[in-house]
Amino acid sequence: MSKVLSVDLGGTKIAAALVINKKIVERAQVATPKAPEQLESVLKELLAPFMPEAQVVTVASTGIINKGILTALNPKNLGGLNHFPIQSVIENITQLPTLVINDAQAAAWSEFKLLKTPASNMAFITVSTGVGAGLVLAETLHVGPSGLSGHAGHMLSDPNGPMCGCGRKGCVESIASGTAIAAAGKAFWGDECTGQQVYQYFINGDRDAANIISCSAKSIANLIADLTISLDLDVVILGGSVGLAEGYLELVRNHLDLLPDIYKPRDIGLAQSGADAGLLGAASLYLDKSYFTVN
Ligand SMILES: [Zn+2]
Repeated sequence: MSKVLSVDLGGTKIAAALVINKKIVERAQVATPKAPEQLESVLKELLAPFMPEAQVVTVASTGIINKGILTALNPKNLGGLNHFPIQSVIENITQLPTLVINDAQAAAWSEFKLLKTPASNMAFITVSTGVGAGLVLAETLHVGPSGLSGHAGHMLSDPNGPMCGCGRKGCVESIASGTAIAAAGKAFWGDECTGQQVYQYFINGDRDAANIISCSAKSIANLIADLTISLDLDVVILGGSVGLAEGYLELVRNHLDLLPDIYKPRDIGLAQSGADAGLLGAASLYLDKSYFTVN
């Protein structure tokens, strides 16, 4: 079964692609519906054109994926979508075997396979609407018994920091994410201020924006340090709209440089597969027989 219909379910968009020989041969994308009850009909319409050719479905989805059920750690990122039986819904639509994994975990696998220098332990960190991660340890993707492995965006960054959407105070996500950057920007530029605007002000040399972006980068640098010291990481790969933004990696490196060398991974780089990391990662996990198996 080598013709894979791969799906990437995110907070802002849902992408679907037919993957043959690990290459995307056909792709479509729609906006994630604001109302969770519309998700099933949106998926039906998106997946229908791919179904005649596909033999199996792989899904990279936002949220914690446990036994095919999507649960949100921070429900705000998903417009209230929570406890959604994503696997059975897609199985019913497609009548094909369906395999589901968290999107950052899928992207971690995709990026691990693209590393130019061999590595044993790698963390992929996405800084976007939220902050997520995927861990490849001893060349094996770690998903965990309940799908929780790598949800490092909810590790503690500042006990006096803002309340996180998960219910804990001061998580990395509450300081570093695009949503957190926008929230901090509202104090200076009003309620309509977006994360992209704050980032543009930073690029233009605004000092307040520079402070906000620096707080984000410092939080990510400390997260990298914590993961490196606990997991003996060789490599960290940064992704997501904030992680990949101009100058962000350099800021993270500058904050890491203030720490003792033991906290630094051998290498830090940027994600190479961009927007298709989830689609390709989920398909590869099946095609490599690395995580998914179908009887
Ligand atoms: Zn949190």
